[in-house]
Amino acid sequence: MNLIIMGAPGAGKGTQSEKISAKWNIPSVSTGDMLRAAVKEGTELGKKAKTCMDAGQLVPDEIVIGIIKDYLSSDKCKDGFILDGFPRSIPQAEALDAMGVKIDAVLSIEVPDEKIVERMSGRRVCTCGASYHVAYKAPKVAGICDSCGSALYTRDDDAAETVLKRLETYHNTTEPLKDFYAAKGLLVCVAGREEVKDTTADVMNALSKFEA
Ligand code: AMP
Repeated sequence: MNLIIMGAPGAGKGTQSEKISAKWNIPSVSTGDMLRAAVKEGTELGKKAKTCMDAGQLVPDEIVIGIIKDYLSSDKCKDGFILDGFPRSIPQAEALDAMGVKIDAVLSIEVPDEKIVERMSGRRVCTCGASYHVAYKAPKVAGICDSCGSALYTRDDDAAETVLKRLETYHNTTEPLKDFYAAKGLLVCVAGREEVKDTTADVMNALSKFEA
């Protein structure tokens, strides 16, 4: 199963990717996580990416396409994969087609903008990749990661004004992908609900028709 998960920032792509990855035993890759790792390492690529990320804009297509190309050609992906946050523009989707990668389904998690703004203000993340929300998915001990015990922090690009910019970028550049994939008969839309487990149930149900 080769799956793409899309949705506005904070819609729950990462959380649902984890659930699907565990259930189907296929790796999930987030371009956002890969870019944040490059920023942390201070690589040339990371420096270029940081300016765009901090401004709530997309990192140039050629950078992310290069990263994804390397990843998809690795052995890890031979039995399937979940792409979390890629493609995010029509040229990225066309590049994926040009790589000869066959996509089986595209899941869009739909959450209204006002909810996104509320969710992002409460999001806390960990360097290990885990993600929490102070109200909806609180860690057992406030401010501490359940998985690895590190201190949680707020992502720089979760600042309110950056979130609004990221939503604008999503609607203008990423959302047109829904028509692109609907035309190929691959799009499945699921409403992102208040409780993670309810969204997961709907996601699994929607994807069950694609299971072999
Ligand atoms: P995310 O963690 O998926 O919300 O991504 C965080 C940020 O990384 C985005 O706001 C973009 O600046 C950048 N980013 C992640 N994936 C992509 C992509 N496929 N294309 C361009 N920029 C991306």
